Amino acid sequence: MARRAAYLRAQGHSIIDLHLGDPAAHGLGAPDSVLRAAAEHLDDAATYSDERGLPVAREAVADHYRQAGITHAAADRVFLGNGVSELASLTLQALLDPGDTVLVPAPGYPLWPACATLTGATAVPYACHEDTAWSPDLAGLAACIGPRTRAIVVINPDNPTGAHWPPATLEGIADLARRHDLMLLSDEIYAELCYPGTLHVPLAALAPDLPCLTLGGLSKFCRLPGYRAGWMVATGPHPVMDAYLSALTSLAGLRMCPNVPAQYAIPTSLCADVLAQTRRSTAPGGTLTLRRDTLHTALTRHPDIHYARPDGAFYAFPRITLPPDTSDEDFAHHLLEHHHVLATPGSQLGDTTGTHIRLSTLAPPAELNIAAHRIHRTIEDLIGRR
Ligand code: PLP
Repeated sequence: MARRAAYLRAQGHSIIDLHLGDPAAHGLGAPDSVLRAAAEHLDDAATYSDERGLPVAREAVADHYRQAGITHAAADRVFLGNGVSELASLTLQALLDPGDTVLVPAPGYPLWPACATLTGATAVPYACHEDTAWSPDLAGLAACIGPRTRAIVVINPDNPTGAHWPPATLEGIADLARRHDLMLLSDEIYAELCYPGTLHVPLAALAPDLPCLTLGGLSKFCRLPGYRAGWMVATGPHPVMDAYLSALTSLAGLRMCPNVPAQYAIPTSLCADVLAQTRRSTAPGGTLTLRRDTLHTALTRHPDIHYARPDGAFYAFPRITLPPDTSDEDFAHHLLEHHHVLATPGSQLGDTTGTHIRLSTLAPPAELNIAAHRIHRTIEDLIGRR
């Protein structure tokens, strides 16, 4: 669909792109101090760094997570990478053998099942239900655990649903991991992007006794996806983790090191004033809160669109009452072809109901209102076509 949108654009159509979670593409620029920090170190950034990343950046990451409640976070167990995307691939390659299974949330971000599949392992989806605010059903999750299960992936806040799982749910997941000797892989790239009333607790802070990898990076809260800067903090029992991290270090060495100029942006990005700037954007009246609310108000004016306002991240995942024999894919194609709005069908993100689409809420409010109007017209077109 993105390729089709690019084609339509090349034909001269103006497309409203609500497809990717790319803040920079919607004019939400990175903090000046972070850009300056990277620019000032360009001359120092010509050499390879340690395969795990620059010590100064790894120390900043460890310090950030200690303050966030992972009191045992340590710089020598921090790995930097070219985004969470590269680290997802490396961490799963170091963990999985062909025939293993890893449990992934559904709906969820497709990176994790894709990287698991590339290792020859199988990604087993565990269901998160809309009627429980997209939290996982713990009994269903337990039923997915088999003899070759190695890990549970958690994405909190979640993409695409924007759900934020409360500590009780996370403790339930940790308990299952404890009982079945599983590693926890916690993708918390949206941790700094929680809306009013939602307090983020890192999974590793609730499970200090378990092997846990916490992942984050600059792409979302710092609005620098093009820098390709991400990190992974490993916590948990030493003998187990030391063996795993030794394998991971060998793998990380194969790509020499992460992109060095971007690593110099990390310490400044985790400074109190930059984090406070992000918090202002998700506070009442903040830029991201306004955009989330604008789209919610506009979309739910239509009686066939339902969803609760997301607690975190910057996506909407509305359920649309579609005419029979019309799929989410049909809907998204019609929306793109006839109304020039690019959205993602939920079934591409592990939704099994075929009735959701994902929309990024990052565009300016005026554009979001136009997009909502065109989504309404798409529903009317498809109803009228029957
Ligand atoms: N994890 C989640 C849940 C995401 O939504 C995304 C991007 O949308 C990524 C990881 C990729 O992050 P990065 O840009 O650090 O590779």
